[in-house]
Amino acid sequence: MRINALKKSKGYAQAPSKSRAPSSEPRERNCSVGRTVDLLGDSWTFMILRECLFGARRFESFQSVLGLPRGTLATRLKKLTSQGLLRQVQYSDRPVRSEYRLTKMGMDLYPVFLSFLRFGDDWESGRKGPPLQLTHLECGAECKPEVSCSHCRQAVTISRVSYRDGPGAGTSPLERTGRRRRPSDPTRIEQSRPCSVARTLRIIGDYWSFMVMREGFFGVTRFDEIQSNIGIAPNILTDRLNRLVRDDVFERRKYQDAPERFEYRFTAKGRDLYQPMIAMLRWGDKWFSREEPPLLLTHLDCKHDFDPVVVCDKCREPLHARGMKYVMRYPDPLKGKK
Ligand SMILES: [Zn+2]
Ligand SMILES: [Zn+2]
Repeated sequence: MRINALKKSKGYAQAPSKSRAPSSEPRERNCSVGRTVDLLGDSWTFMILRECLFGARRFESFQSVLGLPRGTLATRLKKLTSQGLLRQVQYSDRPVRSEYRLTKMGMDLYPVFLSFLRFGDDWESGRKGPPLQLTHLECGAECKPEVSCSHCRQAVTISRVSYRDGPGAGTSPLERTGRRRRPSDPTRIEQSRPCSVARTLRIIGDYWSFMVMREGFFGVTRFDEIQSNIGIAPNILTDRLNRLVRDDVFERRKYQDAPERFEYRFTAKGRDLYQPMIAMLRWGDKWFSREEPPLLLTHLDCKHDFDPVVVCDKCREPLHARGMKYVMRYPDPLKGKK
């Protein structure tokens, strides 16, 4: 049955009208990333999760750090709880009070955040340098997180990874939700704390930008092909490509004169987005696709299939939220405001 479903989804079968959509309808690659980007691309949600990973648990602590309206905070906490990222735990009887703790699924976002942090530190921190100093408690070293191969623990880069379809591969009817909003202004996030993760999110936290870059990582570089693969409106695609060129993620190159045609190739910075993107894809596949990953990754250096893991660049051990110490390198704008 599974095979049939796969064949159908790849368009082999003379699928009678049983398949959910007629073949003329736009389809997209199976990928849990839509849900992942929708979830992480919301700046308030993201800020709350970040504070959780830094150890915040109570309504009042979220509120005092983030300074967001009580109603907004309550809504987001409720949503994160229903999505399975947070759980409510009662810590006092009289009066009844509860706090929010990360579930396994929520905790598992830690490597994703670290991969965002590393990218932001490397490419977006400007003259002031990375805002946060990380110490890995296990080895005692000041460390940088590195997205690595779960098999050999060496850092992975885009040119050293090949991919092939996994059991969950295929395409599904394109979801037209009509609510692919851009994430809110990251400067708002940074009002509470300078944050490399927020800076990375500015690029990667937009659904369409993410999808366009994902096509780039699959080797798709031309406008028409990107457009038909992801079912994006031409004006939105033009807008996102322009943004990505402006952010130095893509380089625009002419490949044909009459008529003029351009393709979009990753810059060095763009290629470095591969690490946070595969960390995010892995998280989404693990928690939204269950046991059927649409994509399998092979590390060409060690020739093994791998999961991206985030390790300490000094001792090569995986990094966990509780095994880290953070020091702000420059003043936290919140301090002194209170
Ligand atoms: Zn490897
Ligand atoms: Zn270490």
